[in-house]
Amino acid sequence: MNDTPILDAYQGDLLDLAAEPGCGVDDPAVRFRPDGWLLVRDGRIAEVRDADAPPDARWRRHDWRGHLLLPGFIDTHVHAPQLDVIASYGTELLDWLQRYTFPAEARWADPAHAQRSARRFVRELLAHGTTAAMVFPTVHRAGVDALFEAAAGHDMALIGGRVLMDRNCPDALRDDAAAAERDSVDLIERWHGHGRLRYALTPRFAATSSDAQLAMCGALLRAHAAHHGGLYLQTHLAENRAEVDWIRALHPDARSYLDVYARAGLVGPRSVFAHAIWLDAADRAQLAAAGSAVAFSPSSNLFLGSGLFDWASTAAAGVAISVASDVGGGTSLCQLRSAADAYKVLALQGQHLSAWRALYAITRGAARALRLEHDIGHFDPGAAADFVVWSWAADALQRHRGALARSLHERVFAWLTLADQRNLAAVHVAGRRIALDAPLPADAD
Ligand SMILES: [Zn+2]
Repeated sequence: MNDTPILDAYQGDLLDLAAEPGCGVDDPAVRFRPDGWLLVRDGRIAEVRDADAPPDARWRRHDWRGHLLLPGFIDTHVHAPQLDVIASYGTELLDWLQRYTFPAEARWADPAHAQRSARRFVRELLAHGTTAAMVFPTVHRAGVDALFEAAAGHDMALIGGRVLMDRNCPDALRDDAAAAERDSVDLIERWHGHGRLRYALTPRFAATSSDAQLAMCGALLRAHAAHHGGLYLQTHLAENRAEVDWIRALHPDARSYLDVYARAGLVGPRSVFAHAIWLDAADRAQLAAAGSAVAFSPSSNLFLGSGLFDWASTAAAGVAISVASDVGGGTSLCQLRSAADAYKVLALQGQHLSAWRALYAITRGAARALRLEHDIGHFDPGAAADFVVWSWAADALQRHRGALARSLHERVFAWLTLADQRNLAAVHVAGRRIALDAPLPADAD
């Protein structure tokens, strides 16, 4: 970087959260600055100012008045190869894996296919307003490289790791123990702490990893505890009743599904468990005590008929909750759609998710769950300038509904519920605007 700082000033309706909001619709954590100024110096947020305090002439101005500026969304659970099977008909989890997902993942054995797919996936994340994510690629080492390379090309904060499966899966995707460990060690050395990239041990779930493979993950977590803050662990937990029954049959001596992971040393402060629907109070207390996080994936849970996540009990236990897309079980990469589905899942249980809590769960709260709150999820000075410009209305109905709102919460709640990627106007990662109209890889492979 040369000595002359790059100074950009973005003016628009700035909205972020200073802390975790409570349940109410009026909350002191909400920071809304109509026509405010977001000042970005060399890719980081320097300052946020009100409309009446414009910066001086050194700052290059970007006029987004009449638009909403939000921190980039964070997706804490999503599968890169599953864009090929999003919106696939007629199955629950275990059949869905066999019929749709495993064949799509097997195609990543071809490194050229994996590279095209990874580039398309990262571009689609950005095109839906998601600037950071925790991602499952596949069991293929070259696919992990392709995913990290695609993210590094945009300087994105991305967490991922080679998927591990050594039983109960097709031969083409099954690990041998030595290769799985060697690949994981090599990939950790190559990618963990490379720019904004971090590595996650990624056993798919307890049915497809032997006890020995889970123990290998635990050993690597311990061995790298001081390596760039430690490795992450991502896996699935208690998504579907047939899955839970299967885990019980495979592990009759375990107290619960979570206990299978706990015995391997996988329940820790950098562990993110997708779904966590079919838990009991002891499981939730264990997750909270360990500082582990849950990635609630409402679109997927509805689409695959998996169940209704109990937000109230999970939050009351003290577990960090983020909202994730879980594409391709989920049907949209747009985290606005995930938030709207989260509201509906809670409504079916007599619970209510305010716009502020929903926004928190896809921005600052997701960053906190990933131990990245120092870097992303908000407009605090010093944070990376990962932010997205949205239009308040992409069509006449959105405009009509927004105009009738009598409070900020009503306006933002209606926007969260009705808006989608059509509303997206511009995406910035580390202060650089992403060119979303650049050609994507060929679609036909
Ligand atoms: Zn998943």
